[in-house]
Amino acid sequence: MKNIKNLYFALPKQHQIIIISCAAAVLFLLMVPLKGTNQLNSNANGEFKAGQRYQVAMPEQDSKSTVKANIQLPAKQLTPVTINQSNESAVAKHKVNDIDENAAQLNWQSVKVRSGDSLAKIFKRNDLNATTTHKVITAKGQESKLLKKLNVGDILRIGKDNSGTLVSLEYPISKAETLFVNLRGQQYHSHKESKSIEIREAFSQGIIKSNFWNAASSAGLNDGQIINLANVFGWDIDFALDIRKGDSFNVIFEKKYIEGDFIGTGKILAAEFVNQGDNFQAIRFTDDEYYSPDGKSMRKAFLRAPVSFRYISSNFNPKRFHPIQKRVRPHNGTDYRAKRGTPVVAAGNGKVTHATYNKYNGNYVFIQHGNGIVTKYLHFSKRAVKKGQRVKQGQVIGYVGSTGMSQAPHLHYEFLLNGVHRNPRTVKLPDAKPISSKYRKAFKAVAAQRLTELSGSRQALVSMQESSINAD
Ligand SMILES: [Zn+2]
Repeated sequence: MKNIKNLYFALPKQHQIIIISCAAAVLFLLMVPLKGTNQLNSNANGEFKAGQRYQVAMPEQDSKSTVKANIQLPAKQLTPVTINQSNESAVAKHKVNDIDENAAQLNWQSVKVRSGDSLAKIFKRNDLNATTTHKVITAKGQESKLLKKLNVGDILRIGKDNSGTLVSLEYPISKAETLFVNLRGQQYHSHKESKSIEIREAFSQGIIKSNFWNAASSAGLNDGQIINLANVFGWDIDFALDIRKGDSFNVIFEKKYIEGDFIGTGKILAAEFVNQGDNFQAIRFTDDEYYSPDGKSMRKAFLRAPVSFRYISSNFNPKRFHPIQKRVRPHNGTDYRAKRGTPVVAAGNGKVTHATYNKYNGNYVFIQHGNGIVTKYLHFSKRAVKKGQRVKQGQVIGYVGSTGMSQAPHLHYEFLLNGVHRNPRTVKLPDAKPISSKYRKAFKAVAAQRLTELSGSRQALVSMQESSINAD
């Protein structure tokens, strides 16, 4: 070492300078990483293969894939894309906006929204002050208001420049929409970008073996769709008590996709339900209402059941079991056995004539409807309406209980026409409102198409001889 030092100082001044500069240059080159090497795990020749996942660093304004670090190239893009070494946006389809060139130089952080978080708290954790919070919330463009209510678990992306100033913020509002807040001069500007949602039609069908929920669920319908399906037919079929083994259904519904990825189901477009041999069909029209194929509204003056089928534990026992007598006997009402506290709704619009207590009925409510119809609801744990009050169909009027002459929580329900008891599940109700005559022609066309689809789907079911098929 000493020798080298002596040798160095023995050299002429010019040589010393050259050696120092060369050493510095070599050191510098060693410290700077090769660009691109840690950005992509691409294969040796730097090409993307379709259908394969690549890790892509995404500091730019690339909007949409905020949360996902993995970008799956769409299958159609089969031609290999050569990666531009100097820039990460080889994924060409992303929108370029005006500050893209700066964005590449920003320091990006992904921040998860925690329970109880606000933008101010998140900013504070990430060394951004209250002034910045205020400027962002009041950014030009109305959308920044969306940052006032953040959803727990959502991921914000924060892009700062080297001085630590917030330059860019991205917040995914939904799977389809992202909010951008960008600094231009001294002012923040916000805007929203949406991806287009592609709607595809799907079919689903099933035959009931144990209960409706299980059949619908194994046919691939989600909870919301199952409830919607029961609601569509809730004026015709008592889903709480009248569903039987062998009943079947057939549904056409929407499936939503963004860039080929399934993001969720949409509306039920048409459906068919065969209940104890009776076939009911419903078609959705552009007013978002359902109509029978002859154009009559599915909505009727009375719901078949004042309790949702979801709350009825054993909706399969056709024999009526009276909780008081502990034996089957004919009686003037229908008993719905359900847990204490289960909400009970008015079967139709009307006026409350009784809402009180006696030792036989317990807490009870009577409702007077039009056309000489009265409905009665007994044994509530609690009443939710008062005498004289007007109620709407579907409005909660009380909760299942076991007050009065009752030994187990249940709703005793009666339907009277001109003072005579009728079976609410089979009584013929007045005809529902038909579709407005000006839409009749348009509806007929929609209905014809849907019926063809339903029948095609039904035949597929028969030919495949399966109890349930989830057509995906
Ligand atoms: Zn009863």
